Amino acid sequence: MSEEKMAAWLKSLSACTDCELHQEGNLGPVQFSGDSSSPLMFVGEGPGGVEDEYGVPLVGPSGKLLDKALWSVGLTRDHVYVTNIIKCRPKNNRTPTLEEGKRCANIHLVKEIELVQPKVIVCLGKVAFQYFYGRTASIMRNRGKWFQWHDIPVMPTYHPAFLLRQTGHELVESKWQVYYDFKAAAEKAKEAMPDFIFKSPEQPDLLTLYADVKEQRQKKG
Ligand code: SF4
Repeated sequence: MSEEKMAAWLKSLSACTDCELHQEGNLGPVQFSGDSSSPLMFVGEGPGGVEDEYGVPLVGPSGKLLDKALWSVGLTRDHVYVTNIIKCRPKNNRTPTLEEGKRCANIHLVKEIELVQPKVIVCLGKVAFQYFYGRTASIMRNRGKWFQWHDIPVMPTYHPAFLLRQTGHELVESKWQVYYDFKAAAEKAKEAMPDFIFKSPEQPDLLTLYADVKEQRQKKG
């Protein structure tokens, strides 16, 4: 992966005004988190309030749950690549339309995949899975199964925000399902790149790690 090409993409992302979402009162497009040389890519939906503040995906309550789930299967956030289908926060946290997702991802996510060249992609939730497999793709029916997208193995699983809405028996069951999905994705990525380091000795504190990005974003905004 060329650092120059990544920097050029980040520059074009931060200047993007390609759809109406840039006018919805957010601080601008949110970038990625983690390691752009990682073979394992996680694709979520779109930024919420904390993500818009920091300019980084999945750093709020859903991100904390994601970090715990990654740690349980021997991964840390600084050694995987995490991004979203939609880069700008929709007004009042509304659910972005499929068309908005498609438009943004066709410009930016496709470029990220080309630059990062992941060996495995995990779709976190319906919006991400439907970008790859169309409007009728169901997370409930397909969670934990492997699909191919341009020769890259892709697996859908639940978005951490879904787990945060569960309680009781459903929560326990969904957490185990996500654990086994992440475990399978980690194993596949490790098989593809056995020498890659997937875990730091301790879980990084993302809010500290990305404090500089937040500061620059606040100045710009
Ligand atoms: S949502 Fe995507 S396409 Fe729309 S302005 Fe933001 S970065 Fe550009």
